[in-house]
Amino acid sequence: MLNSIPGKMKKYWFYLSKDVFVSFDKQHRLLLYNTKSGNHLISSGVLCTELIKEVYDPKNLGVVELNSKYLTNQECDDFIKEIQRLKFGEKIVKLPDQPKPINLLPILNLQNDVEKMLNNGEQFLIGEGISEYLTYLNIHVSNFCNQTCRLCNSYCHQTRSCCKSVPNETLPLKTIEQILTQAGVTQTRHINILGGNILLYPEWNNLLELLKSFNFEYHLWINFQNIDVIERLSNLPFHKEILISPPTNGVKSEELISLYETDETFTLNFLVESIRDVESIEKITIGNTKTRINIIPIFNGDNYDFFEQNVYLNLDDILSDKKEMRNIFCNQKLNANYFGGLIILADGSVKANMNSDPVGKFPENSLLELIYNELILNTAWRTTRDNETCGGCLFQYLCPPPGNYEHVLGKPDMCNIEF
Ligand code: SF4
Ligand code: SF4
Repeated sequence: MLNSIPGKMKKYWFYLSKDVFVSFDKQHRLLLYNTKSGNHLISSGVLCTELIKEVYDPKNLGVVELNSKYLTNQECDDFIKEIQRLKFGEKIVKLPDQPKPINLLPILNLQNDVEKMLNNGEQFLIGEGISEYLTYLNIHVSNFCNQTCRLCNSYCHQTRSCCKSVPNETLPLKTIEQILTQAGVTQTRHINILGGNILLYPEWNNLLELLKSFNFEYHLWINFQNIDVIERLSNLPFHKEILISPPTNGVKSEELISLYETDETFTLNFLVESIRDVESIEKITIGNTKTRINIIPIFNGDNYDFFEQNVYLNLDDILSDKKEMRNIFCNQKLNANYFGGLIILADGSVKANMNSDPVGKFPENSLLELIYNELILNTAWRTTRDNETCGGCLFQYLCPPPGNYEHVLGKPDMCNIEF
């Protein structure tokens, strides 16, 4: 049974909670996502979509009158009841002598939005606070390495890793000093030092002294094959990120784990290509709760199945952890995977992401100029899920921002959801 005769129906105001994020897809379906509870509601009802669009029409100030068109439609009536049950919104009786309520909904509006400024023909000037955008640096100090890892130049395009992408180059110590000096007047706190094999840096001891003279949090990235004497690293006063690529030398991995299980300055980063790799890591790390361990899937050109089954997202993955409104808004404007970071390669070329074109060269360009270039060119920092596949998807801004896997796999989305 539907509601009573339209003429005799009570009148209602309808509004949505400020905690609810709304999106529509290409098929005119609608997603309501509650950022406080993590609950969601999907509807494909034409009137349901129309009602929510009306709520978001600026002239309605977040509140609409529920006219009989909505209340006499069974699907829409059920939809409103579900919204009330999930506390996504409410309908309240409209009293004749009361003014219309106002409910200002959260809408993304960035004053300093680069795109907006460029579209308005406004000048975006170097020095106008842009130094604050730089929060971390990856510095490849040299490309020398005696190993011959099968996927050497593929790892660094998928995750933070050593590589020999620009052969036989070394960043002079003087240049590294200039980088650190300029980084000191930005928001940079975290600096990753990578190679090749950084232990082969020609002025290794001087490099260590230089790093110590600047107050950054350093992470030294070293492939486990390049560690000749394990104890040599223990004494370094920086965080050590050990990369362990398959086929893992089981003995050395175990040695690393047992040696450093009480040393919080080590993190073991296992690069895995199959579920077998994952199982062998689980075997040697079982019961170990102290060592910091990351397991990083690597695409080797032949393990699509592993990615499909273990890396691609399904709906439960996307909706499993609660997303805050600010993170969803953030996904609309910038890429949290890359924003704030620059990669300085051993030949001085600078990228915002290993898979994108350089934005300049250091020291020819200062760090400020490089930040500016990236803000204008947008090779990585502001890339969002606006590609053809994700662009019309209900979960476009709930999904994590696009990353390196999309690039390496040549797949614009990272899900196995059938829409
Ligand atoms: S250790 Fe690193 S730099 Fe050396 S070959 Fe292997 S992946 Fe490349
Ligand atoms: S990866 Fe793209 S297509 Fe897949 S759910 Fe996320 S936004 Fe939608």
